Amino acid sequence: MNDRRAFLARATGAAALALLGPRRAFAARAKRASGGDDLDRPLAGDRYVDARQRRLLVDTLSRMRRVQATVGYGNFALLGFDQMRKVARQYHAVEAFTRAEAEFIEGLFYFDAREYGFYGEKVLGGLTDQVEVRHAVVVRGTGQRLLRGMAIERYQEMRRAVGPALVLTSGMRSMSKQIYLFLAKAARVDGNLSRASRSLAPPGYSFHAVGDFDVGQQGLGAANFTAAFARSEVFKRLVATDNLRMRYPRGNYLGVRYEPWHIRVV
Ligand SMILES: [Zn+2]
Repeated sequence: MNDRRAFLARATGAAALALLGPRRAFAARAKRASGGDDLDRPLAGDRYVDARQRRLLVDTLSRMRRVQATVGYGNFALLGFDQMRKVARQYHAVEAFTRAEAEFIEGLFYFDAREYGFYGEKVLGGLTDQVEVRHAVVVRGTGQRLLRGMAIERYQEMRRAVGPALVLTSGMRSMSKQIYLFLAKAARVDGNLSRASRSLAPPGYSFHAVGDFDVGQQGLGAANFTAAFARSEVFKRLVATDNLRMRYPRGNYLGVRYEPWHIRVV
């Protein structure tokens, strides 16, 4: 990330997202700290993108979806921001990101996520930072990758303790993948950035970039990403064997919902 670009991004981002409206105290904060509630719903004080950004959100997401279709799901999870833009330029089916779209992403990245209620720390400081592709290991049968070393060892240890019913549901995520997931969530919830950030770390804030991963129970499907996972045999066995290291326990002060499936590695 060069300084000029970082500066421009900060300047345009701050201006663009200032349209979010005046900062308000979140009534939701106390609720978040208590953690006993379902946070994947609108809460008082939530902040939304404006109408112009809403259109950009949809357009940007659509272009990113085309990049993912072009390079494939697995490769997309390793793709840096610059590489994604390059792919977009090269393929007719995608076409280059417009200046407004690129600035929208940069603005989102350099905007302080605390402004909309996310209190995690930044893991990747620059938009063009990349995950360590060289150290990514494909986990057979999952379509996912994990970082060599602590992440893969932790996963194998958990499998030894629990057995094959424990599955990897989400591994390593590049900057592009995290932007994509965050924008997709934001689009599904009417541009509510606060609500999106309660279930998905904003771009740059995800520990999936540096080793964390999600697990589930085979056959549970999408329910693995709900509180239902905490009632599964796999979860109980993880607890019983002292193999559960949760990044986002109940009542965490990061503004993130309870995620019993997200494993802390780093
Ligand atoms: Zn996760």
